[in-house]
Amino acid sequence: METDVDVAVVGGGIIGLGIAWEAIRRGHTVTVIDPDPAAGATHAAAGMIAPASELHYREEHLLRLTLDSAARYPEFLASLTWTGIDPGFRRTGTIVLGFDGADRQALADLQAVQARNSLVVEQVSLREARRSEPMIGPAATAAFRAPEDHQVDPRKLAAALLAAVTSRGTLVRAAATGVERDGSHVTGVRLADGSVLRAGSTTIANGLAAAGLAGLPCRLPLRPVYGDILRLRVPEALQPLLTHTVRGLVRGHPVYMVPRTDGTVVLGATMREDGSNAVSAGGVYQLLRDAQQLIPAVSELELVEVLCRARPGTPDNAPLLGQVEGCDRLLIATGFFRHGVLLTPTAAAVCVDLLEGKPGPPGLERYTPNRFEEG
Ligand SMILES: Cc1cc2nc3c(=O)[nH]c(=O)nc-3n(C[C@H](O)[C@H](O)[C@H](O)COP(=O)(O)OP(=O)(O)OC[C@H]3O[C@@H](n4cnc5c(N)ncnc54)[C@H](O)[C@@H]3O)c2cc1C
Repeated sequence: METDVDVAVVGGGIIGLGIAWEAIRRGHTVTVIDPDPAAGATHAAAGMIAPASELHYREEHLLRLTLDSAARYPEFLASLTWTGIDPGFRRTGTIVLGFDGADRQALADLQAVQARNSLVVEQVSLREARRSEPMIGPAATAAFRAPEDHQVDPRKLAAALLAAVTSRGTLVRAAATGVERDGSHVTGVRLADGSVLRAGSTTIANGLAAAGLAGLPCRLPLRPVYGDILRLRVPEALQPLLTHTVRGLVRGHPVYMVPRTDGTVVLGATMREDGSNAVSAGGVYQLLRDAQQLIPAVSELELVEVLCRARPGTPDNAPLLGQVEGCDRLLIATGFFRHGVLLTPTAAAVCVDLLEGKPGPPGLERYTPNRFEEG
């Protein structure tokens, strides 16, 4: 088959750009198609690389992917150093606080699950927590430390990936409308102007919008889970406000504050399934109210940005990742929900392994994109 490019990637969010860069550095020619790269969920994300503190009930199976990806991060970022863009990776570790009895019980239950999975999370006294983070508020009643949960700045990482991909590959600023097929073979991507990019392999990585592409061999049951998130600047007199990511369960409400090297703090995030992509006043109120319990000085910061984006969720909150049986030269990489930044290096490695005909990692079948159509 005559092709224009080895690999076409639909979507230039953190996942699509990560896959494109991995394919480029393994020697493939790559074209990314996106009308507005890195402006989706990637633009909002806090960038926590936090397999332990982001572990949720019934999501233990994801640990194989999240731990693998966290371990891949340093090498993945090192491959981008030549771009000159610092992706803001910080080994900050994370402190988790609880407030009422139910918070303490939930965090203790979570710690039992974390321990069962050999994750390093230790309960520490509040005095010890305040020794690391003196600004912790007086209402906290329990503290845990997750020393291996770190962070990256997703906007800067996306900028580095975009620079790498446009320098060594091609970016087409256009929307894809679907995939082209010759029977069970996917032969390329159709663009909004009607033209077709012929590719040896096509990867669908355009987040929530993947569900709307024509010609896919299965339905992608994606749903938007909206997140309101704030960025605040710490005045000179209060710097550094935090040196760890500080998160908490405040009377049942999760909230986090992630300190950046540029003197700002990211404060997030709501989880809404109310169908509205407008910033929620109630959501912002709740975040500020709960953050003030974590770190009372939050009310002295300068509010510089409030925005909302949708996380691409799936019915089981796990990604749609891999091949679709009976369909060649097509990979799906979407549905990364709360973990897209964390999972970027592993998603990239898995996709490029598969398109090179190598086997995926053990357990990948759990994330088969057409799993909801079986039975
Ligand atoms: C408030 C918030 C906080 C978060 N915090 C974290 C965190 O701390 N850690 C973490 O790991 N994850 C976090 N996430 C989740 C993470 O942001 C997502 O999982 C991740 O961004 C998904 O990446 P993506 O590339 O699949 O999708 P997106 O970033 O949404 O990118 C999709 C891309 O596809 C493009 N596109 C759309 N339609 C088309 C089309 N027809 N043709 C071509 N291109 C198209 C869009 O322009 C966009 O660039 C957070 C998300 C939110 C909303």
